[in-house]
Amino acid sequence: MKNIKDYDLEQLKQELTNIGEKPFRAEQIFKWLYVEKVHSFDEMTNLSLELREKLKQNYDMCNYSIVRKLESKDGTKKYLFGLSDGNAIESVLMQYHFGKTVCVSSQIGCKMGCKFCASTGIAFVRSLTSGEIVEQIIAIEQDIGEKISNVVFMGIGEPFDNYDNVMNAIKILNNQKGLNIGARHISISTSGIVPKIYQFADENVQCTLSISLHSANNETRSSMMPVNNAYNIQELIKACKYYISKTNKRISFEYALAKDNNDNQKAADELVELLHGMLCHVNLIPINKIENGKYIKSSNENIIKFRDYLNSKGITATIRRELGSDIDAACGQLRRKNLK
Ligand code: SAH
Repeated sequence: MKNIKDYDLEQLKQELTNIGEKPFRAEQIFKWLYVEKVHSFDEMTNLSLELREKLKQNYDMCNYSIVRKLESKDGTKKYLFGLSDGNAIESVLMQYHFGKTVCVSSQIGCKMGCKFCASTGIAFVRSLTSGEIVEQIIAIEQDIGEKISNVVFMGIGEPFDNYDNVMNAIKILNNQKGLNIGARHISISTSGIVPKIYQFADENVQCTLSISLHSANNETRSSMMPVNNAYNIQELIKACKYYISKTNKRISFEYALAKDNNDNQKAADELVELLHGMLCHVNLIPINKIENGKYIKSSNENIIKFRDYLNSKGITATIRRELGSDIDAACGQLRRKNLK
């Protein structure tokens, strides 16, 4: 059965028209789903009994159960949600001074094979539907009784390998009659699927784009990220420049620093040369160790040196705060789980 939360408002209006109902009912349903956050059609008391029955017959409502919740010393929370098909996904809630951010998963498992990321370790199962993406935010808002201000697509999966569902989820998140999270408060991170960067540039959405770069050297980047064999750094940067020219928006490049791998002076110089003159920002991430992973975190001293060097060359760089590493909720530490 179709999940009612897979539709954005316009699509829901169409669905209702198809079953002989007035389109304004869609707005009422939207409010029940995303503002009141009800768990059943029976709770939608301003709809007739007949319509509620019709909805029950035609649609499912994807409610998550919280299988486990871990809380870090720094206040970060990691949720394990059980899906109706026996799979499970993880989402992370982070507290910043500007509000609460949820890091959502877009797939069950990941195909990209990045050597430093735990999400890759186990086989890819499937992409999440739009409703399953959105439900992560609904369930967390409900659990904490507060509004989420920001969403980052940086959990398990490659968002641009699930492009249509991710874009549709953004429409649902964005809708003022729904979860009302401004596009500027939503970030998508991609490992660098070049054709989708072009498509995204043409989409004219206001979300922030982050690119997992990690090295400005093709040999090093290919050894860390197999996607570089399909789309190398030059093709990637060309697509990024197209995105910037189309949107006039700054790109954020993620760069996880691993000792003796991509953290030396040569690597910094190559990065400066690559990004010189671009409307961008570099987000340095102290690499998190994963089980059986070969990469080791750069020293704090070296990370600061790397940042200062980039800044001195006119490339704005900041160091990402490490949140939730004590509960394996930090970047690259989320894994696919199976409840069966
Ligand atoms: N698939 C997407 C989004 C998921 S990961 C992407 O690749 O961009 C979010 C960020 O965490 C990415 O920049 C990713 O490269 C980074 N990351 C993954 N594993 C990491 C690790 N072990 N330490 C630090 N950052 C990591």
